[in-house]
Amino acid sequence: MESFKNLGVSEPVLRSINDAKFESPSEIQEKSIPLIIAGKDVIAGSATGSGKTLAFGTGIIQNCEKGKGLQSLVLVPTRELAEQVSKALTKFSKYRPLGIIAVYGGVGINPQIQGLRTADVVVGTPGRLLDHIARNTIRLNKVKILVLDEADRMFDMGFKEDVEKIIRKCPQERQTLLFSATITKDVVRLSRAHMNQPLQVSAESQVDPEKLHQTYYDVGEDMKFSLLVHLLKHEESNLVMVFCNTKRNTDKVAKNLRFAEVDAMAIHGGLPQGKRNNIMERFHEGGKACVLVCTDVAARGLDIPDVSHVYNYDIPRESKQYIHRIGRTARAGADGKAINILSSKDYDNFSQVLKENNVDVMEEKLPAFNKVAARMPEGMGNKSGEGRTNKSTIRRKPQNNRRRRLY
Ligand code: AMP
Repeated sequence: MESFKNLGVSEPVLRSINDAKFESPSEIQEKSIPLIIAGKDVIAGSATGSGKTLAFGTGIIQNCEKGKGLQSLVLVPTRELAEQVSKALTKFSKYRPLGIIAVYGGVGINPQIQGLRTADVVVGTPGRLLDHIARNTIRLNKVKILVLDEADRMFDMGFKEDVEKIIRKCPQERQTLLFSATITKDVVRLSRAHMNQPLQVSAESQVDPEKLHQTYYDVGEDMKFSLLVHLLKHEESNLVMVFCNTKRNTDKVAKNLRFAEVDAMAIHGGLPQGKRNNIMERFHEGGKACVLVCTDVAARGLDIPDVSHVYNYDIPRESKQYIHRIGRTARAGADGKAINILSSKDYDNFSQVLKENNVDVMEEKLPAFNKVAARMPEGMGNKSGEGRTNKSTIRRKPQNNRRRRLY
């Protein structure tokens, strides 16, 4: 606790940190909290799981006062992240309560309008915030702390213009805090246009390379799903995430897993918000051996502790997504496994992942496993076989039999 105190964290926040049983500040907290408390503009390079919410939350909680109007606006890319951040801020402000609300699309606007009348802190997605601005149901003229959370993700999702519009509605005299896993050109451009002599800090990902075991299986396309079922049933696991590249595949894989008696749920951006919230709650409560099949968009920014296994059922098209995906496991001292299930279709993407990231992925021998009947999309037909790759289908087998280090 002393180490948090030395950063300038005040008594009420220290008490909630104590309740949360955090023993010492994370790297990003150590580097950014003193600057944030001092009122500086900060650009923080930090990924999900780095502890960034408490970092900017400390500044918000210490500098905002209940009942003085909307003093802090936190912009986030996704609805889930809006929920997650507002819940975390509510938790950390337990001993210095503030009116905190989440504002995002896909749910009724009226309760939000009601909540905005008394809110001190708003956490919102750009689209719905612009909607409120257009309706005159939000007033930004008292905002003194503006947070851009996962800025790179907001840009990736096409919110650049919207974010700029919202920033321009805030007073010029304010503190701006920008958090981003990657400091892209757009991030730099935005900081030049809208920040005041920002100081830059960064932290390594929380993933511990010694604790994260990365492997890949090379399997025939027609046996990919069967291998996934086999591994899910035989690996001792806690919460599990299975990544697919498309919404369609996410739905199909989850459906077929349930068909194969694996307790799986799909989450992607195509689902109505209420359903997404329900799924996340069920996943959190699910306890052991619960499988969340998801796309990158749905997963990004979600704080899901205790993920023991990350499966890449599709290898991501963008290699940096691989790092985001594997960062879901092996956090905060826990062990984790990242398992890649490759068929010939994935070779190009996998080669790219290995080329562009300094990762250590070992090939794993295929176990003996049975064909599982599944109603899979085309390309995953129901030919029988015993799980060997048909060498004639190999286009370019990735060369990776040596150990490589992560980061
Ligand atoms: P975030 O990057 O803000 O999404 O935080 C990731 C997770 O780390 C959350 O579950 C936090 O509750 C947790 N966390 C934040 N700060 C600390 C800390 N200093 N020690 C341990 N866990 C933390």
